[in-house]
Amino acid sequence: MGFTPRVGSSPSSGTIFFVWSWLVVHLPSSVTIVEVSLRDGLQDEHTTLSTADKAALCRDLVGAGLRYIEATSFVRPDLVPQLADAEELAEHIPAASDVVYAALIPNLKGAERALRSGFRTWHLLVSASETHNWVNIRRTVSQSLDELGQVAAIAAQAGVALAGYIGTAFGCPFEGHISLTKVRRLIDAYAGMGLNHITLADTTGMANPRQVYETAMSLQEAYPAVVFGMHFHNTRDLGLANVLAAMQAGVTRFDASLGGIGGCPFAPAAGGNIATEDLVNMLSEMGIDTGTDLDRLIDASRRLESLLGHELPSRLPKVGKAYDLHDPAEIR
Ligand code: ZN
Repeated sequence: MGFTPRVGSSPSSGTIFFVWSWLVVHLPSSVTIVEVSLRDGLQDEHTTLSTADKAALCRDLVGAGLRYIEATSFVRPDLVPQLADAEELAEHIPAASDVVYAALIPNLKGAERALRSGFRTWHLLVSASETHNWVNIRRTVSQSLDELGQVAAIAAQAGVALAGYIGTAFGCPFEGHISLTKVRRLIDAYAGMGLNHITLADTTGMANPRQVYETAMSLQEAYPAVVFGMHFHNTRDLGLANVLAAMQAGVTRFDASLGGIGGCPFAPAAGGNIATEDLVNMLSEMGIDTGTDLDRLIDASRRLESLLGHELPSRLPKVGKAYDLHDPAEIR
C-alpha cells in the first residue's frame, strides 16, 4: 500500500491530519537495538583497544540498557588485528542472562572458534555484491553460501541461534545498483538453512529512505515468516532518515554503534554506523521505547572517545539532549 499526496492545491487540515495519522499509526511502540560498536565499530579503528577496555565498554553498554550486543568477530587475526582477542574477550564480557551476546562468523573456522568460546548467537554474513564479497571474504557468493550452510548445520546441532546478514544490500561501491533479485537469492538461501532473522546491511551508506521503505515492504510481503533487521551506515547522513522509513514499513530491529564508529576495512569510504545515542535520542523523542538510558549512553560515548583518542561522529555527546535547558545569562 502507499500514500498518494494531493497535488495542485494547498493541503487542507483534513489532508494534514491524514498525513499525520498515517505517520503515527505506522510507528512501532518499541524497537530492538543491536549494538555493534565492539565489532563493526572497533574493526575500523587505528587504535586496538585492550581486552580490559573492551570489557569495560561492554559493561557500559549493558549498564545503559542495551540487551543485544555483537561482541566480536571470529575473523582471521592477521586480517583484522583489532578483533584478534575474540577468545579472550569472551571470558571477560559481563555475565548477564538477559543479554544476547552475538559473534560474527565469517566461515567454518570461525564457527569452531565461536563454539569453543561459548557464543550462543551467531551472525552470518554474505554480500549481495559478488565483487564486495570477494574483496571482503575472499570467496564467491556461492562459495560463501556453501560454507555458511555448513556453519548453520553446526549451529543447529549445538542449539546456537542464528541471524543472517546481507552486506551491500542497498548498493555496492564496486558494482553500483544491487537488484532485489540478488538480495532475494540470499534470503532464499538463508531461509533454506532455517534462518528466520535476516538483516539487510547498507555497508557503505548508499541507501535512501524511499528505497528502504519499498525494499522493506516488498520483502516483508514476500517473506512473512522472516523478521527483518536493518544495518545502516551514516556515510551520507541518511542513516536516521532510513531508520524512519524502515519503521514506517514495520521494521523494529536496528543495528547501531556507540559514538557512530564503524566502517568496513574492505570498502572505500564506508563511513560510520548510525550512532546508538543519536538513534535513541530520535526514538525516545518520538515516544518509541528502546529500554536504554540516554544519559548513560552519552557518558559511555564520551569515555569511548577518550579511549580512542579522536573525535567521534555522533551528535548527542557534543550538543546535549534537546531539553537540556540553558541559562540565558550564558549567552553574551
Ligand atoms: Zn557495517
